[in-house]
Amino acid sequence: MVITRFAPSPTGFLHVGGARTALYSYLFAKKNHGKFLLRIEDTDLERSTEASVQAIFEGMEWLGLASDEKPVFQTSRFDRYKYYIDVLLKEGKAYKCYCNKERLEHLREQQTHNKEKPRYDGHCRHGVMSQSTDQPFVVRFKNPETGDVVFNDLILGEIKFSNQELDDLIIARTDGSPTYNFTVVVDDMEMAITHVIRGNDHVNNTPRQINMFLALGHKAPQYAHVPMILGDDGKRLSKRHGAEGVMDYEREGYLPEALLNYLVRLGWSHGDQEIFSLTEMIECFDLTKVNKSAAAFNTDKLQWLNQYYIKTLPVEKVAAALQKQFEYLGVDTSLGPVLSAVIAVMKDRAKTLKEMAEASRFWFEPVKKHDETAVAKFISADTATVFTKIHEQLSGLSDWNKEAIHTVIQSVVESLGLKFPQVAQPLRIALTGNTVSPGVDVTLALFSKEEALDRIDQAKKRFAIPA
Ligand code: GLU
Repeated sequence: MVITRFAPSPTGFLHVGGARTALYSYLFAKKNHGKFLLRIEDTDLERSTEASVQAIFEGMEWLGLASDEKPVFQTSRFDRYKYYIDVLLKEGKAYKCYCNKERLEHLREQQTHNKEKPRYDGHCRHGVMSQSTDQPFVVRFKNPETGDVVFNDLILGEIKFSNQELDDLIIARTDGSPTYNFTVVVDDMEMAITHVIRGNDHVNNTPRQINMFLALGHKAPQYAHVPMILGDDGKRLSKRHGAEGVMDYEREGYLPEALLNYLVRLGWSHGDQEIFSLTEMIECFDLTKVNKSAAAFNTDKLQWLNQYYIKTLPVEKVAAALQKQFEYLGVDTSLGPVLSAVIAVMKDRAKTLKEMAEASRFWFEPVKKHDETAVAKFISADTATVFTKIHEQLSGLSDWNKEAIHTVIQSVVESLGLKFPQVAQPLRIALTGNTVSPGVDVTLALFSKEEALDRIDQAKKRFAIPA
């Protein structure tokens, strides 16, 4: 059975690069009717934080990438690492190294001086140093001294490293704690991972890990190294480019469906298909078709997808996300129109739900400020009469709907001999504070009749220009 894992280090939020790697691991597992697991690589006690573990869980949950088993925490597995360190020592596949800092520094200086690549010289491997057992030591893995490590990366193709390039890696520090590359091997082995899909910043770790797998008497998993994501300026994606963490996208008003769809296409394609539901992604995903080179983030495309999902997802889902945005803005939606009605009239006008909430908040809270330019342009000596007439006629409406409202506005336009915008724009200003809103009839229809009449009345008082 195919088993993949996502193995983030909890030293920050879940960023989009990690999310894409997680998505690819998830899709590959699901496509092969296998399992997708989550492992928290938290052995770096200084840099790992509980807040970041929670941020990773939150991001994964928001994206809907559920692990098929309970997450594994490396900090709960120290006994397993110790066990395998002892096994390797006992089998002579690892050794205690007593070289002190001074010796290692001296060695490095010499190598740098001779223009050689700094590497451990195997001093203790050959038992040169006879030390008393109470000296501090690290444990080093006996990397093979000859031959090559060759693996067929499912994305990058054949990769070959000469063992001569790889020195004897420290697998346990002087305090006995295991090092990163070793814990990954033990976990991938015990979790029976068949495919390791991870960022290509780990390519150089892979030959070392494969050698350790073999030393532990195990076949190494298959590897697939995913290229990194660049910002739209070609530089490595970072905070400078705006949102970087997955939950920043939630905050900015993106739907998880849009981000997933965006991420799956970032560096992978299936013909010219752009829109993928999660089910379609699982069906079509092919790891071997992931690009070898880095992909550049394109916010316009993400926005395009987001708007597509705003328009097409079940409205309850979009409404829940929109409600969240209103909460972020501190706007109480309980007394305004139902959110599904807001979405219906705003979905063509907003690319994100944050934008939609900002552009719709006037339905839920009093107008605090009237746009001065709009006022200067559209409020005139005629406006008081317009407001009076409209108020009068709307008050008489028994059916408060868009069509009836439209008829009223039209009749006021005609009776006063004005052009449509001469009525519509002052009305919009009265209702929303500016002139940017959906059709004025639609805008009015989403208010309760009382609220609409009240706003017109207030505007009339405010903007009444004495004759
Ligand atoms: N913990 C590593 C990281 O966050 C990933 C290691 C792996 O996938 O093997 O970069």
